[in-house]
Amino acid sequence: MAEFANIIVDISLEKLDRTFQYRIPERLREVLAPGMQVRVPFGSRSVTGYVMELTDTAEYDISRIREIKSVVQNSVAIEGQLIALAAWMRKQYGGTMNQALKTVLPVKAAKRAVEQKTVRLAVPDVEAKNQLGTYQRKHNVARARLLEALLEQGELEWHVITHKLNVSGSVVKALEEAGLVQIVSRRNYRNPVAHLEKKEYRLTLNDAQQRVVDTVMEDYDRQIYRTYLLKGVTGSGKTEVYMELIARVVSKGRQAVVLIPEIALTYQTVMRFYNRFGDKVSIINSRLSAGEKFDQFERAKAGKLSVVIGPRSALFVPFPNLGLIIIDEEHETSYKSENTPRYHARETAVERARMAHASVVLGSATPSVEAYYRAKAGEYRLLTLDKRVGERRLPVCEVVDLRDEFRAGNRSILSRRLTALIEERLLKGQQTMLFINRRGIAGFVSCRACGHVIKCPHCDVSLSQHTGGRMICHYCGYEEPERAVCPSCGSRYIGGFRAGTEKIEMMVKSRFPSARVLRMDMDTTRKKDSYEAILSAFANQEADILIGTQMIVKGHDFPHVTLVGILAADMSLHVSDYHAAERTFQLLTQAAGRAGRGILPGEVVIQTYDPLHYSIVTACGQDYEAFYRQEIAYRTIMSYPPVWNMLVICCAAKEEQTAAAGAMQLAEKTRAFGEAAGGLYLIGPADASIAKLKDLYRKVIYLKHEKYQVLVAIKDRLEHYIREHGIFANMNVQFDFNPMNIG
Ligand code: ADP
Ligand code: ZN
Ligand code: ZN
Repeated sequence: MAEFANIIVDISLEKLDRTFQYRIPERLREVLAPGMQVRVPFGSRSVTGYVMELTDTAEYDISRIREIKSVVQNSVAIEGQLIALAAWMRKQYGGTMNQALKTVLPVKAAKRAVEQKTVRLAVPDVEAKNQLGTYQRKHNVARARLLEALLEQGELEWHVITHKLNVSGSVVKALEEAGLVQIVSRRNYRNPVAHLEKKEYRLTLNDAQQRVVDTVMEDYDRQIYRTYLLKGVTGSGKTEVYMELIARVVSKGRQAVVLIPEIALTYQTVMRFYNRFGDKVSIINSRLSAGEKFDQFERAKAGKLSVVIGPRSALFVPFPNLGLIIIDEEHETSYKSENTPRYHARETAVERARMAHASVVLGSATPSVEAYYRAKAGEYRLLTLDKRVGERRLPVCEVVDLRDEFRAGNRSILSRRLTALIEERLLKGQQTMLFINRRGIAGFVSCRACGHVIKCPHCDVSLSQHTGGRMICHYCGYEEPERAVCPSCGSRYIGGFRAGTEKIEMMVKSRFPSARVLRMDMDTTRKKDSYEAILSAFANQEADILIGTQMIVKGHDFPHVTLVGILAADMSLHVSDYHAAERTFQLLTQAAGRAGRGILPGEVVIQTYDPLHYSIVTACGQDYEAFYRQEIAYRTIMSYPPVWNMLVICCAAKEEQTAAAGAMQLAEKTRAFGEAAGGLYLIGPADASIAKLKDLYRKVIYLKHEKYQVLVAIKDRLEHYIREHGIFANMNVQFDFNPMNIG
């Protein structure tokens, strides 16, 4: 039984920066838990506060520590639950209490909810359709898009029009002046999509979908709340399953959170949820201001919402009776926070669900190795959908060996086979997507003649090239000079592999001068909403070929795409990260899944220097099981997560010397702490893969241990050590458990 409790006396944001310590009276020692509301003496007053954590370590002179008076709320209310979650996150992932609390509690804003505007048609449908035809002929794209959406939906919320449809306010005003639409203002928050009855649709789930829903709901009705992993191929109807589950949970008076990577949170996806759940659903995304976001949280707390959709941070919506958490595209790396506390939304969702007695459904066509490992171990329950809806077949895939192309004298980025298939599509008026794998652009060095990649002799990860040509291993610091010839075949065509989307666009245009080409990458999507605009232009068949990075892999259905070309499949294979094969498999499988989503069957061409690599072979065969078997064998041999656990300690400082010396000192301490536990691997300190970032020098230490909690204990002791000795005042230390990106 802990003797002391650290308490925050007010949860307004300015006051979060510290806790006060109180002694737990004997009679409360059995019952007190994090998140409970208590009454404590504060100066001459008595105030309420929340228990943040229980501890045996006194922070002050014991004689000065006062006692908790009483428990205000025996059960943990919603704020308390989030505070308890923050305490858990701080423990699991490191960092300060303040950082953890700011992650889970929304920022209060002075700004009040503004009036809501919606837009609806002011003329009969027939007339609107006529006008739509005129706009389309005149290529008034924005006007046409607005009319089309209004014909479909009846009424739309202003911000849906400007944010999701990419139609500017001036266009709406122009249509209002023309008497075509009417702008309606309301004081209260209203339904973004008014005529739901009209649009109400209900698909009948197929047998496989129904079986998944039944399995989850049978448990649920028996109050068995657990975590499910829904492994369903692309287009197998996972989203419909989510919606059915949500409808069931909501009908029981509980609420649901749906996490979707921001990039997949497109107009299409949002509309599906709107059409089913109407004004009970809301969205959170990074475009909302702090005030808007806070309002959504308030509405959720007041019981005005039943479903919130959003990226990672939507997990902390203060629903009073949360019953279900869905995480779509569970394998996405964006579910891991890059800020302290570096939490993973999957693990944190499972913990939040445990506190709230809720279920969790993780969905993916290509589950993370981590989640699948847990499912196999029985920790998650595995559910599968292995067929596409409506007899649609998975695409046919072939691999092209780029070394053969090189030998045949083809120096183009497009293989002969892919070129021929694109030509065929252009003749048939079908669409092509060219996917350029840009993950792992971080300068690995390979041979164009034989595909050989320069690797670290100690760690089996590729070396990265730094300025001046030095090649470095980011795991162990091994270094070697630049090579002039390939050590494997002697060719002089060796170097860093880089090819930008822009360059590819130029090459494609000159090869197929008649084709209409769209490009999507960081450059073309920098402007607000251009992402959505490019996708809808392509969906409307305004182009024949779409070239893009991993951005094009998500979000939209393109029924006329019958060919997907993957230009440099290997890029992600050679990043210095043990996830390389997993990411490659996921990217290739998801990209391939873009082909043949309509009635026409699809074809996929994967261009690679490494046609026999298991991630490429299994992605081509869409064979997850085979991939997993080989991948988990590799992780086992190398003691990588999820078989073992990993903790990366990153030390950053202005002076390289400070970072190096500090990291060395921490490594020694860690080694000493680890000795007690036994079985600890410590590698480093070494330069981080980005050795200098924002003027800070970065050193990393890698720890591996079979048990996660041993690493947590080491983190606790290091945090304590750092706090005790003010010696690291000039150095920032960050902890990252089972990192998504190494270094
Ligand atoms: P996933 O999320 O697995 O990619 P979706 O739920 O988006 O799959 O479904 C793919 C397509 O099939 C969508 O257009 C969806 O409307 C349709 N669909 C899903 N389930 C059914 C069903 N039971 N009957 C008819 N169409 C369905
Ligand atoms: Zn190495
Ligand atoms: Zn070679």
